[in-house]
Amino acid sequence: MAFIVKKNIYGKDYYYLRQSVREKGKVVSKCLAYLGKTRSEAEKKAKEIMNNIEKNQTIPDTKPAEKKTGKESSSFSLTKISIEELANFCKKKGFVFRSSDIYGGFAGFWDYGPLGVELFKNIKDDWWNHFVYQQTSMVGIDASIISHPRTWKASGHIENFNVNDYLVTCKKCKKSTKVDKADLKKIKCPECNGELDWGKAQVVEQMFKTRVGAAEKSDAYLRGETAQGMFMDFKLIHQTSRTQLPFGIAQVGRCFRNEIAPRDFLFRCREFHIGEFEFFIHPEEKKCGLLTEEHLNTNFMFLDEETQKKASDNLKEVTIKEILKKGKLGEWHAYWLAEQAMWFRSIGLNEFKIREHTREELSHYSSATFDIDYNFPFGSQEVAGNANRGKYDLTQHQKESKQSMEIFDEKTKKKVIPRVIEPTFGMDRIFLAILTKAYCDDKARGNIVLRIPAKLAPVKVAVFPIVKQPEYEKMATEIANSLGEEFNVSYDKGGSIGRRYARNDEIGTPYCVTIDGDSAKGKDATIRDRDTTKQIRVKISELKNVLKDLINGKIEFEKAGKLVK
Ligand SMILES: [Zn+2]
Repeated sequence: MAFIVKKNIYGKDYYYLRQSVREKGKVVSKCLAYLGKTRSEAEKKAKEIMNNIEKNQTIPDTKPAEKKTGKESSSFSLTKISIEELANFCKKKGFVFRSSDIYGGFAGFWDYGPLGVELFKNIKDDWWNHFVYQQTSMVGIDASIISHPRTWKASGHIENFNVNDYLVTCKKCKKSTKVDKADLKKIKCPECNGELDWGKAQVVEQMFKTRVGAAEKSDAYLRGETAQGMFMDFKLIHQTSRTQLPFGIAQVGRCFRNEIAPRDFLFRCREFHIGEFEFFIHPEEKKCGLLTEEHLNTNFMFLDEETQKKASDNLKEVTIKEILKKGKLGEWHAYWLAEQAMWFRSIGLNEFKIREHTREELSHYSSATFDIDYNFPFGSQEVAGNANRGKYDLTQHQKESKQSMEIFDEKTKKKVIPRVIEPTFGMDRIFLAILTKAYCDDKARGNIVLRIPAKLAPVKVAVFPIVKQPEYEKMATEIANSLGEEFNVSYDKGGSIGRRYARNDEIGTPYCVTIDGDSAKGKDATIRDRDTTKQIRVKISELKNVLKDLINGKIEFEKAGKLVK
């Protein structure tokens, strides 16, 4: 059933055509089209659209974001692996296991296994390196997971975020249906089209409640986002780190949301990791001194608000400079969006697009938000975001705590509450994107090859003695130990060389070092490249430095030693 909905946004009316659909076990209403600004215009347009649907027996794609354009597909060349296949592969190789597997698993919770924990650590380290160490004014924190209950009152989570999903029973067939807050009292039973019992609708709380101490009366929550830790520590950090505006506070950590329908492997979990920073700027500071030509020329596929309102899916290739000119965001917002795009490219994730939030989907705290969506096998989905939170959070905490959140700005000699730009990254989703992108079923080789960027690979180097002989084994162990001082190394002497290469291809080890007769004489050893299977010979004494340069992408493989023909 399609219906017309009026929305009042900043005092103006907008009409939309919406329809109830069942999606992943939950009934939601989806926007089919924007209908205009007056009731009569809307009714006329809605009739046209409904006629078209009847004629063609098709419903317009309500998810323009997920449809690929010709342009997009030409640059995307992924091995199609389903999310289930990837989950199986991750279990088989020790990347990720179901939590509590011996009890049949626990929906929405996952364990990172021996290889997964290495890959994940490397992703988090690379993120920290890019967004903390390589930025001029960013510091890190690691805040507690449970904080004062008033945190979530001040942040608006209890009021806005915790009451989005409702469980409603059908008066006729008695089946329960999960309904989005926006659709309360608007839709019918998806099973039998009967009346839903709105009087008995129950909130499904998204935040995990817990009790702290024996006498504690009020409920505490496991954090649903990392951001509040940065806001609450903001003044302490300003005082202790001698930071001046603009500056940022970064954090990577666990968050918890009681998802109704956890799904798609690591994509929608109940316990997950967020990497995020709050960047504090003087409220009147519009210019960003850090914007370089490289930032301005950063380009990407973009889905703007206007296009989405036309229910169209036309992605445009734009540069940061162009969307700045259109006034879609300010300079600081643009700077961080460009930095995000640059980081994604630096870890080999090029298949993303940036989507502007439409005004009606903006969070309660945000005045402009962009999603960075990655093209997964199960659709184009959000892996990161970038919100302009303004002064919302600091002001809220000031009100709730009665503590001043103002700081003294040296430049203007005035006390101010800064405004905030917040880039957020779903770290488990990025882990998933890296694996999805890397997975390659190499038919010629007859094995899987995980083409993980060398700097992120769980095992950097595998060392083999060419055959099981005491002198080769001794030397290989020594070399493995020495390389182990620099990176995660594995030593492998079991099976044929071909089998050992295949095993390492499958877990993404970028380089294999083989010790043979010449190596034992102290001369050189072979390094084999995972992606090309080419081999070079490198002097034993230079092995460590050459591998270091290869892993950091400082030299080309074929120029790093003598190519074996
Ligand atoms: Zn029913």
